[in-house]
Amino acid sequence: MKSFGLDIWGDNNFIIKNDTVNINYGTQPSLLNITNHIREKGYKGPILLRFPHLIKKQITTLFDAFTQAKNEFEYKGGFHAVFPLKVNQFPNFVYELVEVSNGYNYGLEAGSKAELIIAMAFTPLGAPITVNGFKDKEMIALCFIAAKMGHNITITIEGLGELETIIQVHEELNKDNNTPIVPKIGVRIRLHSSGIGIWAKSGGYSSKFGLTSTELLEAYEMLKEHNLLESLWMIHFHIGSQMGDIAPLKKALREAGNIYAELKKRGVDSLRAINIGGGLAVEYSQHTHNQERNYSLKEFANDVIYLMQEIAKSKNVPEPDIFTESGRFIAASHSVLIAPVLELFSQEYHEKSLRLKEQNPPLVQELFDLYSLLKRTNAREYLHDALDHMESLLTLFDLGYIDLEDRSNTEILVNLIIKKAIYLLKDEDTNELKKLQDRIQERYLVNFSVFQSLPDLWGLGQHFPIMPLNKLDIKPTNPASIWDITCDSDGEIEFKPKIPFYLHDIDVEKEEYFLAFFLTGAYQEVLGMRHNLFTHPTEAIIKFDNDGNYYTEGLIESQNLIDILDDLDYDTNLIDKSLKYKIEESTMLNKEEKRDLLGRLYLYLSENSYLKTIQALEEK
Ligand SMILES: *Cc1c(COP(=O)(O)O)cnc(C)c1O
Repeated sequence: MKSFGLDIWGDNNFIIKNDTVNINYGTQPSLLNITNHIREKGYKGPILLRFPHLIKKQITTLFDAFTQAKNEFEYKGGFHAVFPLKVNQFPNFVYELVEVSNGYNYGLEAGSKAELIIAMAFTPLGAPITVNGFKDKEMIALCFIAAKMGHNITITIEGLGELETIIQVHEELNKDNNTPIVPKIGVRIRLHSSGIGIWAKSGGYSSKFGLTSTELLEAYEMLKEHNLLESLWMIHFHIGSQMGDIAPLKKALREAGNIYAELKKRGVDSLRAINIGGGLAVEYSQHTHNQERNYSLKEFANDVIYLMQEIAKSKNVPEPDIFTESGRFIAASHSVLIAPVLELFSQEYHEKSLRLKEQNPPLVQELFDLYSLLKRTNAREYLHDALDHMESLLTLFDLGYIDLEDRSNTEILVNLIIKKAIYLLKDEDTNELKKLQDRIQERYLVNFSVFQSLPDLWGLGQHFPIMPLNKLDIKPTNPASIWDITCDSDGEIEFKPKIPFYLHDIDVEKEEYFLAFFLTGAYQEVLGMRHNLFTHPTEAIIKFDNDGNYYTEGLIESQNLIDILDDLDYDTNLIDKSLKYKIEESTMLNKEEKRDLLGRLYLYLSENSYLKTIQALEEK
């Protein structure tokens, strides 16, 4: 596990060089270097690094895969893609996305009014905008305004009520117009095939979205009656996120392809495109036996092109343009969260904590002998003896025969024996040993919030790759669980024997040790919640100049305490007054102290809520 599964989830984006993890781009700087550089400027707490070159890589890879598939099959329809804003709406991401996608005619997808405004402001004219989700009259009117601005916008009908509103808005906004400007129209279809996995609810008959075939026929008639049929040009579906398996997609493609062909045959000449939604999976796993995706992008693109071609051929209709709305695939890899380890909770199990007496109970003495004499050849036997003795000793404690010190010695010795035995037997890799790792795990307290930065881990059990920034030339041996700094016991990444995770044994008073959480660029940021009032971490964009040297842009510090409270709509003047008053009126303080405390108070209020580095390091 020295490489932390980098070859599984890393996609060549990072490499291990000497003892650090480095960016596999430009002059290949280490993440540790970049982190230290930013921290030297005074930014403490967790830092989110964004790498626009990785956004560009994903967009290029996606377009290349479809271009290749189209060439291979001599497919005549076009290929287009949009980025679904719900995956990441942060300005530092969106600006970079728009910049690096220049040349691909890459657009944005919006699912709400606020997202639509982002799309209208930042999509280059001509690049596609698609609008999905529930819409009211105002949102539909915004789509018409976008079309009248010159945007290439498609409004997806999710239900018949929405279509009625579209007709109404059309009549209001185009009533004096001889050449009415109308957004392109798409219909979301309700598939009988559904997605799989934890995000499967977006597809299938019970899905929140889409028209049944009966409604589709009705929509067709309504559009025809209001002279809008020639705006109908897209069929849309989305079967769910993080599709681990490609089979449901193939089923959905067949279904949608046939609906497309049927509508074409009915004379919907303007119909030209199939929008296959998102769902392209990202490999988050750090263990080969636990991978999340069973297909490659090439297979995905080939399947889409091949199936559409087959249906078009057999039904004798033109091959449709393909649209994708993959978001996770585009955004996940672009950001890395880096957080300092603050403390290790296992100090109590060090040899120096033993309080052995002149005369120990015989079983405690025996534990000590087992520990002293433990070697590779007897490790298994002694380990079993130790576990056995512990059971007996705990029973003796319950019955009042041994005291608290004896019990403490028992716990320490058994833990030391397990640790040493696992180390001695590390090449044997048996299940029995794996189960025991649970008992000796080290708890790493890390300066970040799971709720803010990895909400899908908390809510859905989604795994994210984790590795330390350095010491990668040394095999880590501590089975590790990670605790965040919220006061919530759910803010923990447990050690799981089935996908064991190890970190290095370090003394945080002597050296800094950072953990990096990868593939956090999709969904995590805006879903992140301010539990305990920990807010979005400090963020920075990392770019490379022509010589391959990196530079930093767009530094935004995590919100300070007063801004956090202001965001919750507290009256911050009142807070300010109240705090000041309480210090100034205090009868316990002299003038000097008051001035000093006020100074400190205002300094603290201007800082963010994450913890500073531990005292020992700060003094260095
Ligand atoms: C969420 C969503 C997407 C993006 O899905 P990913 O799994 O992130 O690719 C695409 N289209 C629609 C309609 C969505 O709701």
